[in-house]
Amino acid sequence: NPNLERAATEDDESIDRSLRPQSFDEFVGQDSIKENLGVMVQSAKMREDTLDHVLLCGPPGLGKTTMAHILAREMNANIHVTSGPALEQKKDLAGILSSLDHGDMLFIDECHRLNPVIEENLYPAMEDYYFDIVIGNGPHARSMKLSLPPFTMVGATTRAGLVSAPLRSRFGQVARLQYYDFSQLSLVIRRSAKLLEIGITETGAHEIARRSRGTPRIANRLLRRVRDYAIVDGDGHIDGDLADYALAKLKVDDAGFDDLDRLYLEALTAKFGGGPAGLSTLASAIDEEKDTIETVIEPYLLQQGYIQRTPQGRMATRMAFEHMNVPIPQNGSN
Ligand code: ATP
Repeated sequence: NPNLERAATEDDESIDRSLRPQSFDEFVGQDSIKENLGVMVQSAKMREDTLDHVLLCGPPGLGKTTMAHILAREMNANIHVTSGPALEQKKDLAGILSSLDHGDMLFIDECHRLNPVIEENLYPAMEDYYFDIVIGNGPHARSMKLSLPPFTMVGATTRAGLVSAPLRSRFGQVARLQYYDFSQLSLVIRRSAKLLEIGITETGAHEIARRSRGTPRIANRLLRRVRDYAIVDGDGHIDGDLADYALAKLKVDDAGFDDLDRLYLEALTAKFGGGPAGLSTLASAIDEEKDTIETVIEPYLLQQGYIQRTPQGRMATRMAFEHMNVPIPQNGSN
């Protein structure tokens, strides 16, 4: 199953949490975001004010949840965690808002998936710290303003483009996390190896970093899977050769692509001659959800230059054909 490598098991999740950096200093990379948020935190503390609302955007596994927890810790704030799809009804939102104390942080993951009614009720809460509730029903129903303590909302989204303009405009800061480069991922891997007491050489860390699709969560997961091979087929220690050997067994190729990426690239190059191919067409060709394609597969391929998005659909670039060893069609414009 090509999804296996990406589906986090419960075990993975608890290890993920244990590896989570606790401070700006431990958080590798994203320097300008750390600087901007650091200044916001410092200023809020000096003014003895709550932190302004922050929206964190970026593909899965780049550290949005980690950053939200760091912000809460820096502000000495309690963090309440929920997600867009979890807030189904107005009473769900009322419940969580009324549990907030002065200065608390409300972290809403996947905030592009908030239902519009909930979203509208969030606006006054974020802007003026009140929430409209309706008491009673029928002709005696009346609306009341419930006032809330000042709090900080931190939203996270993998799909910045789907966050509505009115919601986005209520965040004081919008931070876009970028894919990490190899040397940053190498640092993430060496830090995790130390915490998990895994012996790894610099070359070993670099080999894993190179194939982690710019993503710390993937780097940490590959580190653990490579460690398994090191224990079973080696002497427990990870060097460059062992990493190469294990990653080949794990079917992670030289560019860091797994079966799912290759299935996508295979469809786009071999089946559709490089495109343009529409999202729905691709989704049914590889039997995958459109949302998974757009949030998990495509962003890294786009960033690395393997595909392009045009108004007519997705197109494979020369790099994609070369990587997949598929001849470029003669009449193609690739
Ligand atoms: P999702 O949107 O899928 O929830 P996310 O962007 O919130 O993903 P996190 O859960 O914060 O991602 O990060 C995944 C794991 O990657 C964390 O457990 C952490 O160990 C590691 N990680 C993320 N960012 C960094 C970083 N900058 N430095 C070191 N480790 C990191």
